[in-house]
Amino acid sequence: MAELGRAALTGATVPQLVADAVAAVAEGLSAVRVALFERRADSLVATAAHGWETGETVAVDWDSPIARAFREGDSTITETMAVAPVRDERDGMIGVLAVVLAEPVVPDDVIFLRSVANLVAAAVVRDRAEARLTFLAEAGHVLAESLDYDATLATLADLVVPRLADWCIVDLAEEDGTMRRVAVRAADPDKQRVLETLHREYPPVVGSGQPAAQALASGGTAHFSDFTSDSLRATTLDERHFELMTQLDPRSAIAVALVAQDRVFGAITFAWSESGRRYEESDTVLAEELGRRAAVAIDNARLFRSELEAQRRIAFLVEASDVLASSLDYDETLTALARLAVPRLGDWCVIYILKPGGIIERAAVEHAGGRQEFIRSVLEAHPIIPNARVGVPAVIRTGRSELEAEASPISTASDVDKPEELANALGEIAVHSTMCVPLIARRRTIGAILFVSAESRRVFGEADLRLAEELAARAAVAVDNSRLFNEAEQRAEAAEALDSIADGVFLVDAGGMVRIWNAGAETTTGIAAADIRGRPASTVFEGWDEIAAVEGATPRTVPATIQGRELWLSISGVPSSDGTAYAFRDVTADRQLDRLKSDFVATVSHELRTPLAAVYGAALTLAERDFTGREDLRRALVTTIAEQAARLSAIVDDILFVGRLESGGLRLEPAAVDAVAVAHAAVEAAQLRAGESADVELRAATASTTIETDAGRLRQVLDNLLDNAIKYSPNDVAIELRVDSDDRWMRFAVADRGVGIPAGELTRIFEKFYRLDPHQTRGVNGTGLGLYVCRELVERMDGRISVSSVPGRGSTFLVELPRR
Ligand code: ADP
Repeated sequence: MAELGRAALTGATVPQLVADAVAAVAEGLSAVRVALFERRADSLVATAAHGWETGETVAVDWDSPIARAFREGDSTITETMAVAPVRDERDGMIGVLAVVLAEPVVPDDVIFLRSVANLVAAAVVRDRAEARLTFLAEAGHVLAESLDYDATLATLADLVVPRLADWCIVDLAEEDGTMRRVAVRAADPDKQRVLETLHREYPPVVGSGQPAAQALASGGTAHFSDFTSDSLRATTLDERHFELMTQLDPRSAIAVALVAQDRVFGAITFAWSESGRRYEESDTVLAEELGRRAAVAIDNARLFRSELEAQRRIAFLVEASDVLASSLDYDETLTALARLAVPRLGDWCVIYILKPGGIIERAAVEHAGGRQEFIRSVLEAHPIIPNARVGVPAVIRTGRSELEAEASPISTASDVDKPEELANALGEIAVHSTMCVPLIARRRTIGAILFVSAESRRVFGEADLRLAEELAARAAVAVDNSRLFNEAEQRAEAAEALDSIADGVFLVDAGGMVRIWNAGAETTTGIAAADIRGRPASTVFEGWDEIAAVEGATPRTVPATIQGRELWLSISGVPSSDGTAYAFRDVTADRQLDRLKSDFVATVSHELRTPLAAVYGAALTLAERDFTGREDLRRALVTTIAEQAARLSAIVDDILFVGRLESGGLRLEPAAVDAVAVAHAAVEAAQLRAGESADVELRAATASTTIETDAGRLRQVLDNLLDNAIKYSPNDVAIELRVDSDDRWMRFAVADRGVGIPAGELTRIFEKFYRLDPHQTRGVNGTGLGLYVCRELVERMDGRISVSSVPGRGSTFLVELPRR
């Protein structure tokens, strides 16, 4: 007995112990029959026996000492038979230990029998507890195995059946408040089929009488210890449901809520059916424990999933930022963005950009299935109505996202001209769900992105919208950056172009301030851009009002005084959004040339008229008067005619010579020339022309006098300079021609002590037709061609000509010719 007791509480297995117990009773009481009857559904079945057959069955409700002892939970004693209950204090009756003796039963026999029965009970209880622990440990493994909780719960259902139920159902509570059945499992294949039909036809309904719904509502356990036809009706929705449930034949059921961190994740429904068992307290405890563990596992999996999801989002956004930052090309950025968005955020993606004038342009279209060309061509035929009250224009106008979980082609097409047509065209591409988010940069909405779920049949939720908004925020910055960059680039190009043109270009804003001042403007006016930008245009141009009045692309020529200089500007002004852009050109020289030409006409006609008048007068006198005996007078008149004709011819020669110079018809004939000899001849001739009134001298300070040049042209230059020196020295006609040289140059300097030349005119006197005193107020003749011809000739001789002068004190013209 003591041995049996030790075995019951420790090592031995229950069947072994039961066998030992039966043997001990048979021996101890010299029994005819001994058996342990264990409860199986509605019967008591002999599992270990001596004298009885194992498998011997007694119905629980029979009128037999065995059944009675079980029902009453107390010993029954007849003449030669004693039955002791085998009871689990928590769960109730396990079975009975029955004995039939050869002799009448005495109280000691009963005491012995009850002791053995209690030992058996203790062993069974211990075994059951161990089985529960093993079961929970196993369940724990299953639950910890995977983070895919749908799969986990299906495995859990496998574990539950048939250990804790003949069939079971697992339902989950969804975030949107509905219930979703994730697993059904039955030990009996027929019932499995019925469960699957039930799964299809009668999804769990929140708030219904279904056990799972009840457990979900209460967050606790719904108990149905004895299912009757009535209670079955109360938990079913209609006749068909009732019929299916009848086939499942639950006799006893419990539904346990899955609760973790005060959240109800779902419910597991356990049902005993064909095994005829009932859910006792210990089952409930076990089921609840299982439910708790499952809930924790689901919670962990969900947390992990959301954590994973969050990590994925972050990874996605990081990738997005990389892609977006990789290019400053606007179109490239948009295309990359659209590519990135599919299929992560939708099956297709359209990016809209707000263009000047409120036009909404589809800047990029991408489709995960590669049908973007098709979608693009369909969309192209349907421009967006910019002021539509819905869809993309609304998002762009309000800057607020739009999520349409249940979208359709027609709802998606609501912002175009002919929505039906577009919807039809899109018809073959199912539109399931859409979201549209604004592109906002620097507080301005610059466009929107539309994400469409089509073939994936995905339903967009708040989390998707948040991600889309996050992406859009980054994209907007990228788009804005590339825009700014392009603008800056264009500006830089424009500025470069502006600076490369010779014309002055400047922009004056509405407030009259100079905003742009190009290099041409700097050169023409001598005012640096840095000094004028941001200052009123009137500070540059004295006659600004007249200039400001110039408007139109055709330039007008206006006078302007800039920094004390009087200029003629050909200027045109074109109004732009930023003010008025003016383009101008300094035409002072052209104007002067025009003036010079008219001066030349005046000069030449004057120059021609004087000798012509003299010739005409002399000829008339010769024709009309009788010169008999006045031969000297006649001769003087003829001489006048000859001289004046020569002067006329010289003027004409000058003009013709300039014509030859400019048409390229003049050819130099270089030869070895004695420079001093040429200078000497020129001085002598000049002295001759000037006569008594002048003193022309040569000073040659050079030994080597030979140069390679055209002697005739050199002479022409020196004659011209000497003539001018004489002409412009009214009082002190002392003129010097100095000749000297160094290794490289032969120099001829013609110096006078005449009227001199003002500093500002020193370069201009070499211009064609330029005369300081065009109207010959001083009575000095000239065409303004002499110095021009000199310069042209000297340059053709590879030399240079310059002048230095002090007004009133005289001038020195220097001709330098290279020595070869
Ligand atoms: P022209 O003598 O026929 O007027 P030029 O071309 O020879 O034409 O000279 C241009 C102008 O330069 C002259 O009108 C005169 O005003 C000035 N000039 C030329 N040589 C001298 C000089 N030696 N002294 C002062 N002025 C001079």
